[in-house]
Amino acid sequence: MSPILYFIPFFFILIALEMWVAHRRGLQLYRLQDTVTSLNIGIVSQFVNTLGGIISVAMYAVLVDRFGAFTWDVSNPLCWITALVLYDFCYYWVHRAGHEINILWAAHVVHHSSEEFNLSTALRQSSTGFYFRWVFYIPLALLGIPVKVFVVVGLIDLIYQYWVHTQLIGRLGFLEKFLVTPSNHRVHHGQNDYCIDKNYGGIFSLWDRLFGTYADERPDEKPIYGVRKPLHSWNPVWGNLHHYVAIFRQARTTVGWRQKLMCFFAGPGWTPTLQDAPLATFAREDFVRFSTPSPRWMRVGAIVATVLGTGLLLYFLKVQSQLAFSQRISFCAAMVLFYLALGWAWLHPRVLAAAHE
Ligand SMILES: [Zn+2]
Ligand SMILES: [Zn+2]
Repeated sequence: MSPILYFIPFFFILIALEMWVAHRRGLQLYRLQDTVTSLNIGIVSQFVNTLGGIISVAMYAVLVDRFGAFTWDVSNPLCWITALVLYDFCYYWVHRAGHEINILWAAHVVHHSSEEFNLSTALRQSSTGFYFRWVFYIPLALLGIPVKVFVVVGLIDLIYQYWVHTQLIGRLGFLEKFLVTPSNHRVHHGQNDYCIDKNYGGIFSLWDRLFGTYADERPDEKPIYGVRKPLHSWNPVWGNLHHYVAIFRQARTTVGWRQKLMCFFAGPGWTPTLQDAPLATFAREDFVRFSTPSPRWMRVGAIVATVLGTGLLLYFLKVQSQLAFSQRISFCAAMVLFYLALGWAWLHPRVLAAAHE
């Protein structure tokens, strides 16, 4: 049974709690369309990653088995603490590469596509990162860290990052010096000039301080959340694919192989004409959050679809070990298609016209 199954109820309880506290403080931290999209992206990613994750763990298991240099005593707590610190170090680099190499950014961008910042944003996880992420953890396999330890510390690293997606917690004093906190992770999700390519840490912000990518939140300039090439869609599947499509379109119209390769492997801001030019300065005053009409029938439909998807995900996570591989693939494919169709219908011109009435 997937351990994530046990965390899902806590995720929802904490989201409800954050909504309630925000309401009491008179803050508007949630918008229904954005929240539903975040949850649906999370559901799609769980379905895809139950299969994709097998690739990562299988590759890791092969490597540790063949090349693992040391034997680790799993009964010693130091083994787990060391593994967690080393895992987080590798996470820093996988996350940094996910921002600074365009084709890897295509996988990670979905996590940053929300223009809000709340606990539901944490659930916007990528469905397409599984094919390359394991490569960054090869050093752990070479050190011989057992698969079980690798999987558990990976889960701890992921779960830790949930609580830092909130605007309700301010700066945390000396913890800011070495931990990833809500304050420094808000910077990571900002698109203001001072926020770009900053604060990649998972649990420890020490790595950012060490490698020169740390930035503190500025009290005089709150982060504006989202990305500079906005998604402008509520479709959870398109949210995962849109930047791949953009890269392939750019490469097709770019002349010369070297330039074509740069479309994939240079930074996301690279273009053939603006070679090494810095990203255009962000005009905060011009920023408008994406929004579409949202009458009552649409809101009810969105909530029903999300509740249904969550129910099916919980059911799938519970029974997946009893299903044949082909059944698991079919189940996941059906869910992805369901959300693709729903996301498409949501922004269909006729539906939007009806919503305007
Ligand atoms: Zn990121
Ligand atoms: Zn985040």
